[in-house]
Amino acid sequence: MPPELPPLDLGLTWDHRFAQLGPGYATELAPDPLPAPRLVALCEPLARDLGLDPAQLREREAIEAFSGSRPLAGSRPLASVYSGHQFGVWAGQLGDGRAILLGETRSANGPWEIQLKGSGRTPYSRMGDGRAVLRSSIREFLASEAMQALGIPTTRALMLTASPKPVLREELETAAVVTRVAPSFIRFGHFEHFAAAGDVEALRRLADFVIDSFYPEVRSSARTAEAFGGNPYAAFLEQVSERTARLMAQWQAVGFCHGVMNSDNMSILGLTLDYGPFQFMDGFDPDHICNHTDSGGRYAWNRQPNVAWWNLHCLAQALMPLVEDQAPLLAALESYKSVFPQAMLARLGAKLGLAEVTEADQPLVDEALKLLAAGRTDWPLFWRQLSRHAAGGPVAPVRDLFIDRASFDAWHARWTLRIAGEDTPGTRMLATNPQFVLRNHLAELAIRRAREGDDGGVQTLLALLQRPFDDDPAHDAEYAGLPPSWASSLEISCSS
Ligand code: AMP
Ligand code: MG
Repeated sequence: MPPELPPLDLGLTWDHRFAQLGPGYATELAPDPLPAPRLVALCEPLARDLGLDPAQLREREAIEAFSGSRPLAGSRPLASVYSGHQFGVWAGQLGDGRAILLGETRSANGPWEIQLKGSGRTPYSRMGDGRAVLRSSIREFLASEAMQALGIPTTRALMLTASPKPVLREELETAAVVTRVAPSFIRFGHFEHFAAAGDVEALRRLADFVIDSFYPEVRSSARTAEAFGGNPYAAFLEQVSERTARLMAQWQAVGFCHGVMNSDNMSILGLTLDYGPFQFMDGFDPDHICNHTDSGGRYAWNRQPNVAWWNLHCLAQALMPLVEDQAPLLAALESYKSVFPQAMLARLGAKLGLAEVTEADQPLVDEALKLLAAGRTDWPLFWRQLSRHAAGGPVAPVRDLFIDRASFDAWHARWTLRIAGEDTPGTRMLATNPQFVLRNHLAELAIRRAREGDDGGVQTLLALLQRPFDDDPAHDAEYAGLPPSWASSLEISCSS
């Protein structure tokens, strides 16, 4: 073992409230250093949000600290334990098998937990090596910041570091660490863990912590009193359920497929969490399965909203010992059934340029989806071209995306009529339908370059994805066009 490097003090203020919950929630342990870490990419706006100096983060000491080689002064590293349902089956105990929470820092923007993903084995690694490979780490880093810029709740990525250390997956790859940041990394699976263990006191402490930190209004709201007889846990479930419903609508609208919506990958804050075999869809296929390992299509695009609801039932089940009666918990899940479709209609209506969407618009939306599905029309391009057209451009670039022009023309006539009274729909649509999306092939090309030591592709993508609604003539052709034919043969699996 090489001698430990002296700690780096970045001047962060630490709180460590998760660590203070007690020893039953986690195991305190240090990250396992990686040799010769190098900085691949840094998210400067996030650094500033954390009160950190981006220039300092580019220095060797910081790169060592965020790849797990050098302690961060004031941190209190730990791996947390959770359980969960994987592919619909109870999987028992899981946990942070390759992520180490450095702790919780306090900033002007609220609390932020900082976590290193890929920083070595933990007591929850099971058969895993505790590492993450550069390929999947680039995907997670870019997707996190892409989602953020699209306005979709997500865990964040501060830094991406890589090491030449070999890591075996289907082939030999190399190691990397994503420095992830979120107000909390607590998952549905944390609740399931203590419920399954029959540890009601630990479950209650966890629920109280999450409520007091992130949902304090449920303690005293009129809704809690009226709908749930004053029970904060049921009211809390309703809030989680509504956040999750809105998140699902955002995923669906941007064509995002998560790929592994296991209950241990569901954030209690309604954030997009654990980017693995995800995909932003190219051609629209409602049955699209992005995870090569998901042969049954449990997590296909059109199943995501139902799966989220299924996972919310797992959470409800876990909260049972705190509520004693299942009626308020089932009642708390009810609103998902109205919040999701309303949010979905609002999202798709906005994509179509409608300032106000009503149920009367549902057929127009449904027919657009039918049309897109029939021809497997490219999802991002359709919406962007339609936005340009709404902003005064010709219809041809949208129309040319369809083989069945007659059906498109019929739909287009209805849509034209509907948006006729809208005020500047094109401007709104261009700020709703992104020009730059992290398609699989774009990530793949950046990964190939980074594997050769050239991080330029990652950095270019990061810059474009941070401003996804802005045209960028220098990059439009290469980064905003139809995917090449080889893109559809890319196989993305759970292996990461
Ligand atoms: P995921 O499918 O990435 O959400 O991972 C499921 C579980 O396996 C989580 O508890 C992870 O921490 C764990 N895990 C995944 N990959 C590894 C690995 N390479 N080493 C250790 N644990 C892992
Ligand atoms: Mg996971």
